[in-house]
Amino acid sequence: MSLIVQKYGGTSVGTVERLQTVAQRVAREHRAGHQLVVVLSAMSGETDRLLGLARAIQNPPSARELDVVLATGEQVTIGLLAMALEAEGVPAVSYTGAQVSILSDSAFNKARILAIDADKVRADLARGRVVVVAGFQGIDAHGNITTLGRGGSDITGVAMAAALQADECQIYTDVDGVYTTDPRIVPEARRLERITYEEMLEMASLGAKVLQSRSVEFASKYKVTLRVLSSFKEGPGTLITTEENMMEAALISGVTLNRDEAKLTVLGVPDRPGIASSILGPIADANIEVDMIVQNVSADGSADFTFTVHRNDYDKALAIVQTCAATLAARAVLGDRKIVKVSVVGVGMRSHAGIASRAFRALASEGINIQMISTSEIKISVVLEDKYAELAVRVLHSEFKLAEDP
Ligand code: ASP
Ligand code: MG
Repeated sequence: MSLIVQKYGGTSVGTVERLQTVAQRVAREHRAGHQLVVVLSAMSGETDRLLGLARAIQNPPSARELDVVLATGEQVTIGLLAMALEAEGVPAVSYTGAQVSILSDSAFNKARILAIDADKVRADLARGRVVVVAGFQGIDAHGNITTLGRGGSDITGVAMAAALQADECQIYTDVDGVYTTDPRIVPEARRLERITYEEMLEMASLGAKVLQSRSVEFASKYKVTLRVLSSFKEGPGTLITTEENMMEAALISGVTLNRDEAKLTVLGVPDRPGIASSILGPIADANIEVDMIVQNVSADGSADFTFTVHRNDYDKALAIVQTCAATLAARAVLGDRKIVKVSVVGVGMRSHAGIASRAFRALASEGINIQMISTSEIKISVVLEDKYAELAVRVLHSEFKLAEDP
């Protein structure tokens, strides 16, 4: 018998029929003898609808009152699921965040969970009940309702699993796992059996949006084993776990593509201390996040400075850089939105040399020019002209034989 936390997202509980499908799945696991805690999102679109109502009255809405309104979406789905379970003959009880209780800080709209009273849930489980908990919400020390930030029910699922020391936290969504790359680009992309937290975080931040990064960080910190599965299709999904739990670490786990960045270059700045900070300081002050940075000094003693930012920040960043370039007497400022970042991710890189040169050779053999490179212990990223995006993903996916079973 295991204790399993299952979290279902908005599309999985979007209609009465889908809620009934969830109830059938939960009932099956319950009959198999498992203890189950189910964490739910609001029906898909509901949180946006509630936000719209609030904004129609007060814009921006009072942070405290907004949470009172937003938290209702999840209260509806948990009550309905508990009924659907009872209709299946499974004893069930639903709890809001306040009832459980999920104690949070008082940062309305983006609260952090501080503690969960697991005893009450354990007592219900011991009596054979399925416990259905509202995701995305908590209560602060003064009894105010709080919400955890958009997409926050993943966090509730992971936090419940941590508090209960559950065997697994299963995240049901509309994809059946984490893939070696985007199957729309490489149809033979393979679902991964297992991946480490670290790799998952890299994949998520590099554009493979399956799980909220904050919930993966939380799971990693408390060593909660996560499994991503589809609520519409049967299958084992992908297990996200510690490196020690990997059977044999594959060299490379995936190839990701990020189309969200743009590149800025300042040409011919003096090569002296303080240049990097005089260019990047004002960028940071404007709250613009910089991703890759390259500086090179030419024989004449001047330096070229290149960095990437999110495309949404490009215009703002360009204006800032033009101002500093004038002060620094730089030769020119160049901007380029037509770039993409392609990355190869894998914990296996840590113990294998030569991965980067293999990747570069593969790209070169297809005539793909690399504009920027950055590496970490488990990742190699290259910036390329956008027309090469899909070709580069395919080339790297095949170079590292990711379509084949490890
Ligand atoms: N219902 C909330 C949202 O849409 C929380 C969640 O779905 O995870 O952001
Ligand atoms: Mg959601």
